[in-house]
Formats: sequence, C-alpha cells, structure tokens
Amino acid sequence: MERQGSTYPKYSQGYSADVDIIREQEYPLLNETTYLDYAGTTPYAKSMIESFSRDLTSNLFGNPHSMSLSSQNSTQRTDDIRVRMLRFFNADPAEFDLVFVANATAGIKLVADSLRDFDHRGFWYGYHIDSHTSLVGVRELAEMGYQCFQSDNEMEAKISELATDQSKAPRLLAYPAQSNMNGRRLPSCWSEQIRSAANESGGNVYTLHDAASLVSTAPLDLGPAASAPDFTVLSFYKIFGFPDLGALIVRKSAARAFERRKYFGGGTVDMVVATGVQWHAKKESSIHERLEDGTLPFHNIIALDAALDTHERLFGSMANISAHAEFLAKETYDRLSSLAHFNDRKVCQIYESPSSTYGNSTAQGPIIAFNLCNSRGEWVPKTEVEKLATVQNVQIRTGSVCNPGGTASSLGWTGAELRRHYSAGLRCGDNHDILGGRPTGVLRVSFGAMTNMKDIDSLINFIEEFYVEKVPPIIALNPPLEDNEVVEPHFYIESLAVFPIKSCGPFKIPNGKRWEVKKEGLAWDREWCLIHQGTGAALNQKRYPRMCLIRPSIELERGVLRITCGAIAAPDQVSLEISLGWEDTSAISTSFCPSSAKRPTTVCGDPISLHAYTSPVVSAFFSDFLGVPCTLARFPTQTTNRYSRIPRTQTTWKNRFRKLIMPGSFPPDFPPPVRENGRMPITLSNESPILIVSRSSVNQLNETIKANTKHGSSKTVAADVFRGNIVVAERLARRGDVEQPYAEDRWSSLRIGPDQLRFDALDSCQRCQMVCIDQFTGTRRDEPFSTLAKTRNIDGKVTFGKYSTLSPEELEYDLEQPDRRTVMVGDVVVPSYRD
Ligand SMILES: *Cc1c(COP(=O)(O)O)cnc(C)c1O
Repeated sequence: MERQGSTYPKYSQGYSADVDIIREQEYPLLNETTYLDYAGTTPYAKSMIESFSRDLTSNLFGNPHSMSLSSQNSTQRTDDIRVRMLRFFNADPAEFDLVFVANATAGIKLVADSLRDFDHRGFWYGYHIDSHTSLVGVRELAEMGYQCFQSDNEMEAKISELATDQSKAPRLLAYPAQSNMNGRRLPSCWSEQIRSAANESGGNVYTLHDAASLVSTAPLDLGPAASAPDFTVLSFYKIFGFPDLGALIVRKSAARAFERRKYFGGGTVDMVVATGVQWHAKKESSIHERLEDGTLPFHNIIALDAALDTHERLFGSMANISAHAEFLAKETYDRLSSLAHFNDRKVCQIYESPSSTYGNSTAQGPIIAFNLCNSRGEWVPKTEVEKLATVQNVQIRTGSVCNPGGTASSLGWTGAELRRHYSAGLRCGDNHDILGGRPTGVLRVSFGAMTNMKDIDSLINFIEEFYVEKVPPIIALNPPLEDNEVVEPHFYIESLAVFPIKSCGPFKIPNGKRWEVKKEGLAWDREWCLIHQGTGAALNQKRYPRMCLIRPSIELERGVLRITCGAIAAPDQVSLEISLGWEDTSAISTSFCPSSAKRPTTVCGDPISLHAYTSPVVSAFFSDFLGVPCTLARFPTQTTNRYSRIPRTQTTWKNRFRKLIMPGSFPPDFPPPVRENGRMPITLSNESPILIVSRSSVNQLNETIKANTKHGSSKTVAADVFRGNIVVAERLARRGDVEQPYAEDRWSSLRIGPDQLRFDALDSCQRCQMVCIDQFTGTRRDEPFSTLAKTRNIDGKVTFGKYSTLSPEELEYDLEQPDRRTVMVGDVVVPSYRD
C-alpha cells in the first residue's frame, strides 16, 4: 500500500524526510519497540543530544548572576533562549515573560502559592473536569473555596456569571488546552471571555492555562496578549524529549498576582538584611527575575537551543507534527472502532469526547483512551492487557492516567464510589481492574512527531491477535473423562524446588532427600527477599531479570544459606554464606508489595516489618551483582523451627495483612474476596502456597508454541520458567496411554507419598510476563506468555499451574511419624477431581 505522498498527504508532511527515514537515523531505539506513550513523553533525537554535548564540551558555563566571563556566557544564553522560546509560542516578549520552572506542575504551584499570598482571605479556584491531577491539586490551597466544572456548559455558565459578580476577591480559573486522557482540545476562547467578563464587573480574575499536553503535538499560539491566558504552563520534555524543564509564561499585565509572594530565594532579591530588622528588597526588573528562586537549571536551559534547532530541522514546524499525528490518530481510531468479534460485538470501547472528532485538529489531539471487551461483552482487565503488551513490546499507558476527572466521568464512576474503592484497597497503579463489572481505568495510546504507520499496524495486530475472537471460545478446556475410560494415571513428583529468596533462583531438593512441608508451604520457601535500600520495596524478577541468576542453597547440616551469583558454571561466579539463624539482622519496617498473583486481595504498600541484614558485605554482594542498591531481608517467622530465635508476635506482617482481608473489613456493599465454586480462596495464612506445575501441561504448551512458530526458531520453554515447587509428571503404564495436560485445573485435593499426605488444591496460578524470563540466562523473550494468553485465558486471567496447601487435617496429627509431613522426588501423587 502506498503510504506517502498523494495517498496520505499529511503523513510526514513538511518533514525533512519521510518519518521512517528520520526514525532510522534519529530514533533507532524506537524501531525495536512500539512506543505509544507520547503523552507521557516524546523521545529525543540522537543528533540533539550530540549537538548539546558539543555545546557543553566547547563552552565554559559558569553560574549565572555574576560578572565573570563564564557566568556572563550562561546569563546571555539564558536571556536569548528565553526570547527564542517566547517566539516559538508566538508570545511577544514585550507582552509576555517566560519563567523557567522545573516542570508544568511547578509552574502551576508557583501561581497557586503566589495567589495564596496575594490576599489575606486567600483565593477562589475553579477548574475544568478534564484537568490533569496537577491542576486539581490547586484546590487544596484555595481558602475561599473551589468548584470543579463538570462540563463546558458549567464552565461557560461561570464565565457569564463573572460579568455581574461584584466580588473583588482573587479568583483563578484553570483548564487544560488538551486533555491528557482522551486528547480533546478545549476551546481557546475562554481566556478572552473570562477577561472581558471580569473587566465588566471589575473583578479580580486570573486564567491558568495548562498547555503541557497540547504542546507535544500542536503549536501553542499565545497570539495577541489581550486574548491570551494570564498564565500558561508547560514542560519542554513533552515537546523535544529533552531537557527536563518547564515554563510558566506570564502575561505581563497579570504580573500583579505575584506582587505579594512571600518567599524569596537567591537571585530574586536586590538586598537582604539577614539579622536585626526583617527587611529585603525584591528585584523589580522583570517577572522572571522575581520568580526564579535560586540558581537556574542553566545547563538544561542551554539545551533548549539544540532542542529547538534539531526539532525545526527535522520536522519543520509544530503544525506539520500536528497534521501528521492527527492523521495517525484518525487512522487508529477508525481501525480500532471497526474491530469486531465473530458475533459482531465491538472489541474496543473508545472514550471519545462528544464535542470532537478524530481528524479535526482544532478540537482533537492524537490521544485515544479505550478499553477492550471480549465476545460476551465483558471487560478485559487492563493489567492483563498491560502484561501482554509488555511481552509484545507495545508501550502504552493504563489506569487513570493522571486525569482523575476525565477518567471517572468516562467510566461513569461517582466520587462516592471512588472513595469506597479506595477504602476497599484500590490504589492508583494497582491491579484492581474491574469493580462491580466496570473498569477502574483506561488504556491510553498517544502519538507524536515520530510515530509511523508501522506503529499503528503493530498496535492493531496486537489487539487482533490477542483480543479479537474470530471463533466462539471453546468452553470445555478438557474433554470430560468418562468413568470407564479413566486409566488412573500415575502421577509422581518429578522434581522439587524451593525459592529461599523471593524472585531468585531455585534450590532443587536433591533426589532421595525428604523435605519438610509446613503449614505455610515447603520449608525455607520464600523465607528471604531482597529489598531496595532507597525505597524499602521488595525487588522482583520482572523488574530485575538477573535475579534468577542468584542461586541460594540450603545446607541444613552446616546451618547455612549459601548463595552463588552468576550464570551456571560461569568463571566469575561469586558466593556468600549466611547463617540460617537470626543473627546479623535488624528489624526494619518497609512497604512490601505482595505478588498480585498470589495475594490478590491485599493492599499493596502497607508497612510490614522485615528483618534486614545490616552487614555491608551482604548488601554489597547483592548490589554489585544486580547493579541496584539493595540488601537481603528475612520475613519474620510464623511457626518456629530450630533456627528461629524471634518469638512470634501479634504484629507480624501476616497478622496485619489478615486484618485487611477479613470479610467485613470491606464496606458493606463491597464484595469480600470471592469464594469461587467452593474452592478455598488463597489467603495470607497460606503464606507461600505450594505451586504445582504439570510436566504434561508444559509439554502440551510447548507443542502449541511449536505449532504456532512461523520461522522455525524454537521458542519452547523449560518447566523452570513456571517456578513451581513441585513438578508432577505422568508415568504412562501402557502403550497408547496419553498424557493429561491441564488435568490439574480440576484437582480438588492430592495425596502425596507413602503416607498419603493430604494437600488441598487452591486457585490456579495467575501469570504475568515474568514467565518469559529464561531462568538460566536471565533474558526476556515473548514466550510462553504470548501462547498462554491465547490458549489459557480464563475470564480474562492467564493461568498456568495450581496452588495447593497442606490440608488442615494434617496439622491435627501429632508428629509421631517424624517423616510424615515431608515430600520427596519420586513420591506418588494421587489427585482427586472436582466434578
Ligand atoms: C504532563 C502534563 C502535566 C504535568 O507535567 P509535569 O511535567 O509532570 O509537571 C500537567 N498537565 C497536563 C495536561 C499534562 O499532560
């Protein structure tokens, strides 16, 4: 298909070359991925960084504000760039001033703080529902009250009211130029209307215009000062990718809003008396001099020259980018809206604004917010889409995307409902995707200057491949066995493993050795974890794949945990030994995020107490290997063993968590953790339930992967990627017997070993992209998750393997038989089935 020139006149229009060529030369990293989060940030061009680096290495830049040559060098460049940026936004330097700030949010905060100081009564605040979180937050400073305008009509009603309102109190009205959720571009006439209404009544009204989302793909035209907003904020990284810097553009005639700002810092005063009388003289020369406290980020400011040069050279103008990105957004919108399942049900629910259409760049920017539905019309959980998108290297944003009003109104949630969700444990960025049958967040794709048609194809192919059902789903995963044909398969334990350090490599229990099973799982399983020294959060393999190369082994006879790092048999392996006892640790409180798959009902981030190893040798061992500042920590014991010295207390993290998940701690109309089909839900009393993986299922999965592999290269996986504690295999007694993959889905309980130790089967294990990490090398691949997502997707959840736990009845035995609560490789496994 011809994609350039006459067929698609707007594609790459006015660019220095076709976007694919620009991508090749300037954005090579983008060609390895499908980057669709331009609303988060635009990537930067290679030649811009090179040009900035040349600038830095060939000039000496001193701290501005002094007389030396190097200082003057910085000051002059800053002054020039300030004007250059004003011109870029068509803002006349005689009418506007540009204040450098850290980012758009800092600009918003500077305005709000100044207005708070302006009048002893404070100020009144109104903001549009499509506002970014950073605009919403201003209401907390508005001592005279605030209003959220739920629609354009409400906003416009307020504007007309202003004309007759006699109040002289300072008021601030804020709205985004473009919604960062669905890309809607709001009317640009409001600032002028507000000003003329306020002039009529002599009111003291200011306008705050958040252009941070708009500027990434459209020209910001401040035009005649009389109709421009008083304050406009933006972040430069959203336009150029770099530098990380923002601006507050002030209409000079609104500068009085800053007159009574109380704070002063270095750079904003002419004289200060530090002791005795409390006196200082503020600078009066220019707005920016009065507002830029402290040393300017002058290197960042200087980078704007390179940014602007490169941007103009590559793309010509913002108008070109706008046309290009809008064309791609329209194309995507059309293709997403036409996706349908075999039964004609729509696949995508797009949250578009009723007052705009894709392709019309006055009212719509290149951002699309949507959710996916299956053929029965049920929502696909956003975190499931996110996991698969990650594996397929499609980068999108999900959740409430920092636009609380826009997402809530699109999804139909009321404030009261959201507060209930919060009480029930929902947090920004967590995995509560669907509540009461409705999504809690959106999927967002956004386009920019360097998006190309291939990105769009990849997105649509991704959704088509994984979410468009071409044929009715097969209901029964396994054909029911008829009674007389049940040849009782001979399951046995093929291998046993514990993962002493959460998310690290396995310790394979040697053949012939019986291993203790406790109420909480196999002995020594997930006894330790690694925590980040800065955040206190537990590290996981999804984020740090090299963790699989950290291999602990338990040496009971010597009472040590021995840890070896490095690829198996690599020459540069290093090891560390620590005692299995509790010496060398000290209690710390940290927030620990339980793996969502295992503990679906707990609140992430609540403080728990862990025992961290204080020795610098221990932290250096792990930090050096992973390249992240971390140390080893141990979970407090639940039951005692001969190594535990720490008494069990009421404040262990398990008890705290238990409190949170008790049915009844939820608001009355919120469902307690579900008990599906009478199966036992996983609770925290099963601290590390035992994960059983079936060899037959792994074999079957590999057959499917092979069948679907197009180019011969084998993507089959080892059973190790599933990180099971027990791998169960089948002994086929007679010729013609076949394996029973996924039989474990229907297990209700199991008897294992000579004494028929009883285990209860719990939920199936919900999977994420972590299964794509090769456990021997630490490299990421796209299998087996891609195939699992297609073949093992049950109610929107991708599952593989079965959790189980020692049956409570086993705990009633007094331990007359010392070996009773143990398992060993080779033990016979006899499952019972749910019907
Ligand atoms: C990105 C964005 C912001 C916040 O920008 P920061 O750089 O994080 O301060 C504010 N408003 C909108 C509309 C945005 O898109």
